[in-house]
Order: sequence, then structure tokens, then C-alpha cells
Amino acid sequence: MSPTVGVFALQGDVREHLRVLESLGAHAIGVRRVTELEACDGLVIPGGESTTMFKLARTFDLFEPIRQRIKEGLPVFGTCAGMIMLADRVEDGTPDQETLGGLDITVRRNAFGRQVDSFEGDLDFAGLDEPLHAVFIRAPWVEQSGQDVEILARVGSGPAAGRIVAVRQGSLMATSFHPEVGGDDRVHRLFLDLID
Ligand code: GLN
Repeated sequence: MSPTVGVFALQGDVREHLRVLESLGAHAIGVRRVTELEACDGLVIPGGESTTMFKLARTFDLFEPIRQRIKEGLPVFGTCAGMIMLADRVEDGTPDQETLGGLDITVRRNAFGRQVDSFEGDLDFAGLDEPLHAVFIRAPWVEQSGQDVEILARVGSGPAAGRIVAVRQGSLMATSFHPEVGGDDRVHRLFLDLID
């Protein structure tokens, strides 16, 4: 039986994730309401704008239900803005910014700075044999992580070398970058393994 994997669909690059998940044999659905969330064996929170995302999640009565499912152990994969949504703590957020939380990390929004708004680079990623080509777009990084958090990847070189950009804690996984673009589906495979 293929798992039903939802993609939070009120904001962000939803279609790209749906496409990758479908290509890997999952039953992928956009999640805009609680009934759709209830059908999910796993959930992706895409890149986009975290300050808008939490407000829409509140408006559409999805915020608390997703929080509840996270507490119950639902596997969730957050990319970029999705990583911010899963973080327990945010630096450089808006004053009213709320997150779903679950990952014992502090993320810094737009951490790579204006000059390097977007960049690409190859990373060593835990569990993958070959380096991963990562695309960063106004990305956060992980400033601090708790002891139960497994670090999956750091920036390899350049001014941000050593910065943490992928983590896992229990059934939650997050990347600062966008594995849904660029044609490499290995990180999504790892997430589907987590759902299994
Ligand atoms: N800077 C965005 C935010 O704070 C994230 C950017 C992205 O998801 N590509 O939510």
C-alpha cells in the first residue's frame, strides 16, 4: 500500500513536492483542510514564506490540528519555510510569528544574507552515499540544536561553511534547502522511509 503523503497547500511551492512524491509512488495530496490532514500518513511543509504560512494555517483552522498530529508522531518533512515552521525557536522572525514547533532547534530566518539570497552547492548528507546538490533560496540555517536532534548536513564550503542545514528528530525532518527542485529525489526517499 502506498502511503498518503500530504503537502501543506495554503502557501508555498506545493506542486514541486507533489510531483516528486507521486514519482516515488506515494499517494500525494494537497492539504488545505482538516479532513485532508486526517487522511495523511506523512506531511510535507514546503518552502514559501513562513510569516504568511502560520497566519493562513490559523485562518484555515489547520494550525492546532497539525500541531496535534505532530505530537502524536506524524512524520513531517519541512523544507526552507517549512523548516522554520517546525522549529521550536526562530531568530529574525516577525514579532508575532508563531511556529508549529516539534524540532528542538533555533533557526535563523534569511540567515545567508542579502548578497547570497540564493545559491547552490554540494553537501554531504547523512545516509546518502554521493553528495547532494542543494538549492538555497532566502534560506534559514540552524543556529542551535538540542541533544536529541541528529544533524544530517552542513554547508561544505564558502562563508557559511559548517552551518547546519538539515536535521532530524524522531519523525520530524527538515532541510534549509529545496530538495524538490533540481531532479534529485533522494531526500524525499529518506522521508518516505521514515513514514514506513
Ligand atoms: N525566507 C522565507 C521565510 O522566512 C523562507 C524562504 C523559502 O522558503 N524559500 O519563510
